[in-house]
Amino acid sequence: MPISEKRLIGNFIRCYIGYSTDKYVRWISSSGGAVTSLLTFMMEEGLIDGALVVKMEGLKPKQFIARRPKDLILAAGSKYLPIQSSIKLKELMDSKGKYAIVGLPCYIRAIRNLMARSEKLRKHVTMLLGLFCCRSISPTGFKVLLHKLCVSEEEIEEFRFRGHGWPGRLHISLKNGRKISLPYFDYWRPLYSPYFFTPKACMFCSDMTNEKADISFGDAWLPKIIRKDVLGSSMIISRSEEADKILQEAQRKGFLKLASISEKEVIKAQWRSLFFKKTTLPARLLLAKRRNYASAPGGFFKVACALIQLMNIRISESHLGTHIIERLPFAFLQFYAVLHAMIEYFSWRYITR
Ligand SMILES: Cc1cc2nc3c(=O)[nH]c(=O)nc-3n(C[C@H](O)[C@H](O)[C@H](O)COP(=O)(O)OP(=O)(O)OC[C@H]3O[C@@H](n4cnc5c(N)ncnc54)[C@H](O)[C@@H]3O)c2cc1C
Ligand code: SF4
Repeated sequence: MPISEKRLIGNFIRCYIGYSTDKYVRWISSSGGAVTSLLTFMMEEGLIDGALVVKMEGLKPKQFIARRPKDLILAAGSKYLPIQSSIKLKELMDSKGKYAIVGLPCYIRAIRNLMARSEKLRKHVTMLLGLFCCRSISPTGFKVLLHKLCVSEEEIEEFRFRGHGWPGRLHISLKNGRKISLPYFDYWRPLYSPYFFTPKACMFCSDMTNEKADISFGDAWLPKIIRKDVLGSSMIISRSEEADKILQEAQRKGFLKLASISEKEVIKAQWRSLFFKKTTLPARLLLAKRRNYASAPGGFFKVACALIQLMNIRISESHLGTHIIERLPFAFLQFYAVLHAMIEYFSWRYITR
């Protein structure tokens, strides 16, 4: 049975591939710098007085209210660690003016629910910008990464998961002046793409493309972009006419470059995360709760993939599993990750044929 496209990426007005026209922003951001440049446009046009965003402080991601475009530059780039996020929302509600909020699907959903109940929040928040999210990484998973890179937390001055082109590089500046830099795929794929170190909440979360946001942003993982784009492009989904107009206006004023794409292309680019969040979730949920393999829904491929996902998550969070992954060479984990991705790819193709 074909899988409904609307069910996979939520309701939307239009889908785009786009990027910031500011090459520096595009270079330092995660994908195309579209979030940073759209917020800059909104600030410069007086549509917002600030934006609730996240920057790294050492090894900790911290939410803050950016009030100037140069604060947005500090916040560019994805932070894949869990974030403590209630304090700044209170500060935003107590401030004067209008704000945009950037967040992961779980956060944007919570804000949307709060907005339904709070007139004060509705008055203050004019735009919810949502990032796509397959999962964040657990603190254990982060420690394993540092262990594999042979650095201790105390030695680190500055840490960035991405930036420096696309798909970007991990960057660590040590207090002794030494720098470590690693291509995104060289650490993300072997350590995290087989779902190792996925936090519990992410195991059972079904929103991949930030369906409750006004505009959603993700990586443009399309073969034609991967082949030739080294600066980066974002996948952008507008979910209301008003939000779509703001995007168009940002393009007209020269902040963003946008090209329309079909929802099929969004799904093609994001098949792996959608497979995890939508296709195998029901089976994973049942397997995790009831441990009853026979009653898991969805046929052999869904159940088999859900089982492997659960197994990888559980093993990586056990003491022994963490210990083993810490010691396995990146090359071996890379091989396993590619094999796992192939199994999921053929299952996805079979299920959606
Ligand atoms: C945990 C996580 C998982 C993701 N998973 C996927 C995925 O599976 N597939 C995919 O295509 N894309 C995923 N993304 C989104 C992707 O990494 C980029 O954030 C997105 O493409 C936007 O890039 P950009 O260059 O337009 O944004 P930028 O211009 O780099 O701006 C990013 C903005 O997001 C804010 N931000 C960064 N991290 C967080 C955070 N954790 N919580 C709240 N705000 C934050 C920054 O402060 C900044 O304002 C994920 C992002 C995160 C943080
Ligand atoms: S996978 Fe879901 S619960 Fe986990 S960080 Fe992303 S949106 Fe939040």
